[in-house]
This record gives sequence, structure tokens and C-alpha cells, in this order.
Amino acid sequence: MQTKLADWARNADYGKDVEAIIGRCTHCGFCLATCPTFQILGDELDSPRGRIYQMKAVFEGAEPSHATQQHLDRCLTCRNCETTCPSGVEYGKLVDAGRRVLDQRVRRPLRERLLRAGLRRLMGSRGFGPLYRLGRFVRPVLPAALKSKIPRARAAGAVPQHPERHTRQVLLLANCVQPAMLPSIDAATRRVLDAVGIGTRVVAGSGCCGAINFHLDVQDAARRQMRANVDAWLPLLESGAAEAVVVNASGCGAFIKDYAQHLRHDPQYAERAARLMPYVKDVAELLAPLADELRARMRRVPGRTAFHAPCTLQHWQGLRGTTERLLQELGFDLQAFAEPHLCCGSAGTYSITQPELSRSLRDRKLAAIEATHPEAIVSANIGCICHLQGGTSTPVKHWVECVDEAMHGPARDDR
Ligand code: SF4
Ligand code: SF4
Repeated sequence: MQTKLADWARNADYGKDVEAIIGRCTHCGFCLATCPTFQILGDELDSPRGRIYQMKAVFEGAEPSHATQQHLDRCLTCRNCETTCPSGVEYGKLVDAGRRVLDQRVRRPLRERLLRAGLRRLMGSRGFGPLYRLGRFVRPVLPAALKSKIPRARAAGAVPQHPERHTRQVLLLANCVQPAMLPSIDAATRRVLDAVGIGTRVVAGSGCCGAINFHLDVQDAARRQMRANVDAWLPLLESGAAEAVVVNASGCGAFIKDYAQHLRHDPQYAERAARLMPYVKDVAELLAPLADELRARMRRVPGRTAFHAPCTLQHWQGLRGTTERLLQELGFDLQAFAEPHLCCGSAGTYSITQPELSRSLRDRKLAAIEATHPEAIVSANIGCICHLQGGTSTPVKHWVECVDEAMHGPARDDR
């Protein structure tokens, strides 16, 4: 596609990337078939190709409108289109730049501004945990729509003592919302890693990966969080005190794996962020070579299970098949279902900012999965897990929780 960027766009730090990405698009439209919003709405403007056209017009100097912003807001940033595109169009990078420009040039209506500011403040704050616990306490009397956002509490169980005794050490990401929503995921991760001789710790100074701020268009605040994590992790990794940063929420893992991209124009952090990249691992990447050891420690084999691969695992991190193979090696009876590539509609804060579309995608995903009559649905991202659980009575868990249960029995909070 021929492009002639306006001077302001060409001179911006994203100018070269944007020009190259748009230039690669051949308008073939293959991406339409796998775009969730196009599948549901059938509107070219809500397809990858349509959004690329709209961003191209803005970068070439057209005045952006709130309508254009809404078409970009409706994009889940699932990057399914990237996986499909035969021309290698890096849509994710383009939409990051497009959203940044629109946010600078289009004033959102008050309701949207309040909602987005509220989400940023709530989800990134220390108040999230207490508020979430309060929500869980009053859950029985909440309206169905709110209730579906708060999964029932489940026991986390004890975390291993003296993880430092292991020769192998890894750093765990201190997720911002996961410990409050389902602390069982981190506890199970620690027990499973401990069982195969890997100690875990959360480093002081590290914290939220920055994805929430970034996707709610507060990119400067997100970059401050990224720099803090680079500072906290890199010295320990490069000194050999730990071998990896292990992430059990694929949304966070995907975002951290993009730090080098997000910090590439930062003279002090571009090179350090690039050095961090090889150390960042999804928990399935760390455990895949240890399948035999894990299986030897499992006391029972899980039954019919459906694995929903989050978009941030399969399309962002390119790890399609890694977790599935591991679970099969561990003896899970994995069920194949239709449209495994499609987003479940969770997508960070999308289920709150775009509730109807999000619900349609969730129901479509659950219909495909439940046609296989699984005993449990497993996934690899806190957002997908809570979102799917809101629409089904089939238990939805992180796969690590199921491996832990198969090794150690059900978690109990009194042990
Ligand atoms: S990222 Fe997902 S929702 Fe957005 S255009 Fe691509 S396929 Fe469609
Ligand atoms: S598949 Fe790729 S090249 Fe084809 S229209 Fe979509 S983004 Fe453009």
C-alpha cells in the first residue's frame, strides 16, 4: 500500500515503523476471516484491513474523529490478524501508534474518560485487593453482570518454605490483580516449580508489568513501570542469581516480551530492555523440558479438559501448541474444539469498556468448548479464566492449578 505520511507523523518516533507496516499491507483481506470483531459485526471498518485504512488516513493528515477512535477501541488487540497475514503486517505495533495519536487528538466523551480513568486508578492501586474482597463478600446479592466478574474464592494452599534451598532460582512477576482475584494461581505455580527443584521469589522494586496503563493509553506511566521492572530484574538475571523471569499470566508475559519494542527510543533503557528479553518465560516454556519429572510426581491423571489458548499466548508470544503439548505429555485428556484461534473477549479491560462484544465472544467460545463436554476448562491468563468462568458452571482454572492438584491433591488453606 503506497503511503505518504504527514510531516508530523514522519518525524514522530514511530514514523518509520508506521510507514513500513502500512507499506507491507497488500489489501488481500485474508485477515478478515480470523478477526473476531469482523466476524461478529461484519463491518469492514471493524476489520484489520479497515482499521489499517483508517489509521493510514490519519497518519497522512486526515482529521481523526471519535468514530475512528471507536473502531480502534473495538479492536481487542488479539493480534489474530498478525498470525493470519501472509505479508507480515505488524498490526499490533501500528495500532499502538494509532491509538496514541487518536488519544492525543480526539477528546473522549466524559463517560469514557471517567470509565478509563477509574479503571486505571482502581486496577493499578493497592485498594484493588480490599475492594475485590469486599465484592466477593457481597457477591451473592450483586446483579448477574457484576457477579460474573467475580469468580468464587478457592483455596490457595500453603506456599513452599525456603525456596532458596534450590539450585535453580527464578523470579516471579508480581501481578497487580491476579493475587487478589485468584491467589491460588501463584501458590500452585510455586508448589509445582518447587516440586521439580526450582525456587521462586518476587523481587522488591518489581511490580505490575504496565499493560493496563499502556492499553488505557497512559503510555508514559506504563513506561515508568517497565523501567522499574528492568531495574529490579536485570542485575539478578545477569549475575546468575536467577535464571528467568517466569510469568503465569500470558497477558503480562506478552507485554513484558514487548518491553524492548516499547522502550526502543529510550536512550537509557533500550539496550537493557533488549538484554532482558531472553530471560522472560511463560511458565509452560520453563516446564516443557521437565514433563517427565512432573508426570512422575502426579498422583492422578486429569480427565476431559479443554485448553483455551489466550491470544497473548498464541498470537503475541507465538507459543501456539507449547502448553497443549505439555498437557498431553502429562496425560491430560485434551479436547479439540472449533475456532481455537478466536479471542474469548476478555482482552484486559475490554470486557468492561466493550461489554456487549465481549459477551458475544465469550458465549461463542464457551459454546465451542462445551460442545466437547469437558470436566474442566483450563487456560493461561487470569483475564480469560475469570471472563470464561462468568459464563459457565464448568470449572475454569489455570492449567498449573490442575497440575498442582494432580500432584498434591486439592489446595487447602489450613495446610
Ligand atoms: S487485533 Fe484482533 S480484533 Fe484487532 S484487528 Fe486484529 S484480529 Fe481484529
Ligand atoms: S492479511 Fe495482511 S496484507 Fe492482507 S489485508 Fe490483512 S493486513 Fe493487509
